[in-house]
Amino acid sequence: MKINYAQLSNKKSKIFEKFYDFIIIGSGPAGVTLYKDIISKKKKSKILIIEEGDYYKKKYKKVFSKYLKIKLKSRAFTVGGSSSIWSNISSYFEEFEMQPRWNNKKKNLWPLKHNSLIAEYKKVDKRFNFFFNKLKKKKFHIPFEVRQFIGSMYPVNFRKFINENEIDIIYNCKINSIDEYRKITRAYTEKDKHYFSAKKMIICCGGIETINLIQNSIYKKRIKNIQNKNIIGKFFMDHPKFNLGYLQYPKVELIKKFELVKKRNKIFYYGISLEKSLQKKFNLLNSYIRFEKSSGKFIKILSKINVPILKNIIKKKVSYKVRLFCEMEPNIHNSVTLKNKKTFVKLRFSKIDIRTIKILSREIKNYFSYNPDQEKNLKFKNIRNKIEDASHHMGGLRYSNNQKLSNVDRNLKIRGLRNIYVCSSAVFPSSGSVNPTMTICALSTRLANFLVK
Ligand SMILES: Cc1cc2nc3c(=O)[nH]c(=O)nc-3n(C[C@H](O)[C@H](O)[C@H](O)COP(=O)(O)OP(=O)(O)OC[C@H]3O[C@@H](n4cnc5c(N)ncnc54)[C@H](O)[C@@H]3O)c2cc1C
Repeated sequence: MKINYAQLSNKKSKIFEKFYDFIIIGSGPAGVTLYKDIISKKKKSKILIIEEGDYYKKKYKKVFSKYLKIKLKSRAFTVGGSSSIWSNISSYFEEFEMQPRWNNKKKNLWPLKHNSLIAEYKKVDKRFNFFFNKLKKKKFHIPFEVRQFIGSMYPVNFRKFINENEIDIIYNCKINSIDEYRKITRAYTEKDKHYFSAKKMIICCGGIETINLIQNSIYKKRIKNIQNKNIIGKFFMDHPKFNLGYLQYPKVELIKKFELVKKRNKIFYYGISLEKSLQKKFNLLNSYIRFEKSSGKFIKILSKINVPILKNIIKKKVSYKVRLFCEMEPNIHNSVTLKNKKTFVKLRFSKIDIRTIKILSREIKNYFSYNPDQEKNLKFKNIRNKIEDASHHMGGLRYSNNQKLSNVDRNLKIRGLRNIYVCSSAVFPSSGSVNPTMTICALSTRLANFLVK
């Protein structure tokens, strides 16, 4: 059943009296994958999805940010969530990205083994087509880590996977706070006008709003048993991105193997980062660059003519844009907070983040240019003006076996609560540098498996 809360808020409805097996708050990729997996395993499950946005129209909300600015259009409030904008360039978390490369280097930060994550990727790939099985793990014999990325040119809105005959979905309905009483969980609408009840509840509100919903519930003196309140919202991360500049003397034949290409409505490229031994030895991160061919219109026309002399001229005129995508060290000073219903984000580069960018850009120039000393356009400076939010909001509700330093346990249950779970990039204990949606959906399938047991 599909219900518009805006048309219902002053009326009585049976939906407020129903008792569900599961309430899922948020209808983005996390919520949709979770519901699909629960239903496929336990057909008779009674599920309610609650969505703040409209069924079709999108809305956006401002985030007040210090240092790195969070873009207005970095989250969409609508059925399908931010996948209504984009979510389809994918690759996988490397095993070493799940480990800290800055201290205690052997530890796994995630309460999950890498091969279990890979097994979940295979499952979500079948259903939502993230191209995981098409990703090639090639050996290139260059002194860098190389990982392939594939995306579709048109966004796959997860709304299309929702079947309203399988579940109830109520939209235009913002949940303001949550609570639990013995074996009942409740989701309250604004001003506590209504509530919905279920045995179990899962918060899938995206990287920022998931944290805000928990913060507001604590402010409203709900979920009193929640543990480790002092770290909620901390260790927030993103994948800041910017143009490092241009390679004017590129080793074209070499770069061709890695550059961004568009073929049959798909995007392919290889991300190039520092060798993992180097990352571990010098406390660096897995930030990566991608090469984008950049030649004028005239050169593009000439390159279609198959004359050897012309080909040589063209080769000299081709330059490459070098685009950087950063991993961020989980840093306790980077945070999401809620004050007077406004969201504030503090997100600043650490010394390790900056050192990684500097070393990576130097190594890229030295290896991929045939004239590194003359490369004047590849400079790491004025980044404050160039840097962009990648719309990948992660961390703030750490997922870890460390009881004192986390908010979410290995089963994605909120520590201290009995029946409330989280599935969102807010739980990521490290950001890696890979686009997050396939990993979020992998966590959803894992959680579904646990919930239906
Ligand atoms: C421009 C752009 C490009 C991107 N490109 C990529 C990419 O190429 N690859 C990739 O992997 N990722 C990409 N992303 C990120 C991707 O969109 C997110 O990782 C993904 O959508 C997260 O899914 P989610 O379900 O966790 O959250 P969301 O998609 O954000 O969904 C959360 C849902 O919860 C709802 N909600 C929030 N608060 C409440 C509340 N209090 N009550 C009720 N409902 C609520 C929201 O309205 C929303 O529908 C991109 C994002 C943007 C904006």
